[in-house]
Amino acid sequence: MGGGYLLRTFGCQMNEHDSERIAGLLESGGYAPTQEAGIAQVIVFNTCAIRENADNRLYGNLGHLRPLKERNPRLRVVVAGCLAQKDQGQIRERAPWVDVVVGTHALPGLLELLKRSETEGPQMDVREFTEVFPSALPARREVAHHAWVSVSVGCDNACTFCIVPLVRGPQRSRAIGDVVAEVEGLARQGVVEVTLLGQNVNTYGRDLSVPGSGRDARFAELLRAVDGVAGIRRVRFTSPHPHDFTPDVVEAMAECEHICEHIHFPLQSGSDHVLRAMHRSYRSRRYLDWLGRIRAAIPNIAVTTDVIVGFPGETEEDFAATLAVVREARFDQAFTVQYSQRPGTPAASMPEQVPKEVVQERFDRLVALQERISLEKMGELVGETVEVLVEGLGRKGSVQGRTRTNKVVHLPGEIAPGTFVDARVISAHPHHLVGEPAGVAALAPTSSAAEPTAVA
Ligand code: SF4
Repeated sequence: MGGGYLLRTFGCQMNEHDSERIAGLLESGGYAPTQEAGIAQVIVFNTCAIRENADNRLYGNLGHLRPLKERNPRLRVVVAGCLAQKDQGQIRERAPWVDVVVGTHALPGLLELLKRSETEGPQMDVREFTEVFPSALPARREVAHHAWVSVSVGCDNACTFCIVPLVRGPQRSRAIGDVVAEVEGLARQGVVEVTLLGQNVNTYGRDLSVPGSGRDARFAELLRAVDGVAGIRRVRFTSPHPHDFTPDVVEAMAECEHICEHIHFPLQSGSDHVLRAMHRSYRSRRYLDWLGRIRAAIPNIAVTTDVIVGFPGETEEDFAATLAVVREARFDQAFTVQYSQRPGTPAASMPEQVPKEVVQERFDRLVALQERISLEKMGELVGETVEVLVEGLGRKGSVQGRTRTNKVVHLPGEIAPGTFVDARVISAHPHHLVGEPAGVAALAPTSSAAEPTAVA
């Protein structure tokens, strides 16, 4: 084996996490990264089944590879991720030049599948259960100072718009000791910020019993354990389910120094009728009550959310309820999407699909409201000094970083990624702040990101 590999990632943080493992595995097998399809020996699409038209996009991309494959039969074409798990054998029916189809639970066997495809022809592994946690595989991270850490995979809920239970299976959690050991190793490599990943991160541990205690592991315990890892200065997590939030998690967030003052708290809809149809097990009042409790315990916390507009059966009254919750909750940011039918999900076959133009008009009203609130929230920070962790280049000669509250800040000049800067905020925009350095607080160690090492 060996040669160049080109990896394209679609979708969520879980896929980014898995792509770091795919890259790490390929490099441990002697492949080197390349951006040029023409010289690559392996081309991998790590696919997402959530976005609208995801499959059309995949087959379009695969179509572009066909002439390349005809010119170079030794080129290996790999389809990984959620669409691989969902479409399985259909992928080769539609694109017979694909060599390997590897599902979300089968990543550890990727090198073996590639090798076998060279001698035995096309290979497919779409097994139903995870045997080796992806986090336990070698990884090639894109940045030195931040790492995704998968704490659980799969989900036991059944939200009617979501494909995750189908493609990622039931929840499986990693032992706390394994997660902490991984974070300790990351800290030794210079990582200063970790994001704990789980499809429903706050049900972490419900499938794990704590040895000798007769009870399940708890997400709050995990948070406290990761908070205590020397060298880690910021701990984030995503995505919690509002129904599964518990007081001990709020206490841990309030008490632990390194857990960032930001929570992503997916609302999806402000209408109880729509929440019921979505199989979301909280109601808008309970959602807002929890938000109140979280804000009372952590007063400067930033709150972001997801909202789906135009879910089947959503009436103007339902939509008005969403607007009302958005007004009351005053989110810092909201990731708003127009509902689209995702094959394989229960909602795709529900009657009363909302006409596209109605969805668009509601969507525009929601975005206008949220943009105004976001700008007001950002404006509250003008004149304040915030701690920024620099991530990389921004626009027009600036660098870009994030506050502990996950707000993007643009700073002038050249500052190395991984540097903590105290910055004074000089202007606010709906999606970012502009600041000027008030002092460099600390330099993060600069170890190599290439050292082999994860939607509620
Ligand atoms: S939206 Fe989140 S909680 Fe619901 S099924 Fe999908 S992953 Fe699970």
